[in-house]
Amino acid sequence: MSANAPLHELSVAQLAAKLAAREVSSVEVAQHFLARIRSASDLGAFLAVDEEASLAQARAADARLAAGERTPLLGVPLAHKDVFVTRDFPTTAGSKMLEGYRSPFDATVVRRLGVDLGGAGMVNLGKLNCDEFAMGSGNDNSAYGPVKNPWDRSRVPGGSSGGSAAAVAAGLVPAATGTDTGGSIRQPAALTGITGIKPTYGRCSRYGMVAYASSLDQAGPMARSAEDCALLLSAMAAGDPDRDSTSLDLPAQDYTAALTAEGAKPLQGLRIGLPRQFFSEGCSPDVVAAVRVALSEYEKLGASLVDVDLPLTELSIPTYYVIAPAEASSNLSRYDGVRYGHRAKNFGDLEDMYKKTRTEGFGAEVKRRIMIGTYVLSHGYYDAYYLKAQKIRRLIAQDFQKAFTQCDVIAGPVAPTVAWKIGEKTDDPVAAYLADIFTLSTSLAGLPGMSVPAGFGEGGLPVGLQLIGNYLQEGRLLRAAHQFQQVTDWHQRRPAP
Ligand code: GLN
Repeated sequence: MSANAPLHELSVAQLAAKLAAREVSSVEVAQHFLARIRSASDLGAFLAVDEEASLAQARAADARLAAGERTPLLGVPLAHKDVFVTRDFPTTAGSKMLEGYRSPFDATVVRRLGVDLGGAGMVNLGKLNCDEFAMGSGNDNSAYGPVKNPWDRSRVPGGSSGGSAAAVAAGLVPAATGTDTGGSIRQPAALTGITGIKPTYGRCSRYGMVAYASSLDQAGPMARSAEDCALLLSAMAAGDPDRDSTSLDLPAQDYTAALTAEGAKPLQGLRIGLPRQFFSEGCSPDVVAAVRVALSEYEKLGASLVDVDLPLTELSIPTYYVIAPAEASSNLSRYDGVRYGHRAKNFGDLEDMYKKTRTEGFGAEVKRRIMIGTYVLSHGYYDAYYLKAQKIRRLIAQDFQKAFTQCDVIAGPVAPTVAWKIGEKTDDPVAAYLADIFTLSTSLAGLPGMSVPAGFGEGGLPVGLQLIGNYLQEGRLLRAAHQFQQVTDWHQRRPAP
C-alpha cells in the first residue's frame, strides 16, 4: 500500500513511520479512525467508544513524539477485545453480568501496549464486541448483539474475538487485541481475511483478562499482516511473574527481527507438516482448495511438504468441551452479585439473590457451559469425564511432539468452512463446537498458532491458512507468514466499503 493512501489503508508499520516523521499527529490519526468507527456502527464491532478518553491518550502519545521518542508503535491506534480490563473504558466481556463495570486497573497487555507508564504508546480507541465470556465461534453469543462480517453483513465474523476481526477487516482500527482459548484469534482472523497469532500458552500475561478457561486462555494480536502482528506481539509478550504465575518468565523479544530471510527461496529447508486429519472429511472443498494453493506457494518459497499424523484430532472436540466448561464453571462462580457487576433487584434470602443474579446476568451459552462444567467436575463423574479429558489432552500434546520430529511447522485450514450466516448455528451449539475442530488441539497442547489470509472460498469469502509451531516458535511462524505475504496479496484485499 502506498504511503499516500488514506490512513486506514496503511499498515501499523506505515502509520508508525508517518507519526515518527511527524507528517501526521497521533490526534489526527485517532480522529480519522474515530470517524470511521462512527460511520460503521452497523457492524456492531464496538461495545464502548469514548472519543475524549482516546484523544487524551493520543495527546499523550504526541507529547512523547514531540519529546523525540521514537519507538515502533508510538501514537498508532488500536482497540481491545472487551475481555481486557481497562481503566479508561468499561469492560463487559460481552455479558450483561458486567454491564457498566469499570476496572480500577489496566490488564498487563493493555498497559504494555498503552500510552502510560512506559508502555508502547498505542492509543486505545475503544472496546470490541465478543462472545459472552469468550464462549463462541460466531460472535452471536454476545449479550450486546452480533457482530457482522464486513465481507458479507449477513454472516458471522467468527468468534469469540469477532469484534476485533471485523474492526480490523473494515479498517476501523489498524490492529486489535484478541484472546484465544480454543481458536478465538485464529478463527475470526480466518473468517474476515486478516492475520492473527495466538502465542504459546503463557507468553502473554493473563493478568486483567476476564477468565474463561485459565489453562487455555492466551492473548494475541490481530492485524492485516504478519509484520504488524510481530510489532504488537513484541510489545505484548513478556513474563509477569508477580501478577500471573502461569506466564512464562521470559523477557520481551523483538519478533520483527525474525521476519526477514534472504534469497529467492527464503524458506529453503523449512519442513511443513500436513496432518492427514486436517484435510480429510469435514473440511469443505473450497477451503481445502485455497489452502492447497497457498501450500504450493510455500513450495515455491523453498519449503517442503511432508505428511504427518495427528490421530486424536477428532477427540480434541469432546476433550476441549469438557475441560473448558469445567474451568469456566469455576471461574464464573465469582459472579455472585456481591463482588462484581449485576445484582438482581428483588430477592429473598442470600441463596435467592445468587440464583436470580446469575439467572438474569448470564446468557444461554454461558449457562449451558456452567452446567456442563459443574457436571463433569462433580463427584462420581470427575474420573469418567474430567480426568479422562486431561489424559487425552496430554496424548494430544504428545502427538504434536511426535509430528514435530518430522517437520518444523504444521499447516492446514483454520476452519472447515467460510463464514456462515448469522443465526445459522445459534440453536445448534454442537454444530458450532464442531467448527472448532482444527483450532482446539493447538490450544489443548499450549502451542502457538496463527491464521494467514490464503484466498477466498465459496461466496467470495476469506479462507485462512493455519500455521502451528512448537513451543515458543512464534518467530518462525511469523517469518513463514511474512515471507508468504511478500509474494501474495490476500492480506491486502479489502471488503467493499
Ligand atoms: N469456540 C471456542 C469456544 O467456544 C473457542 C472460544 C475461544 O477461543 N475463546 O470455547
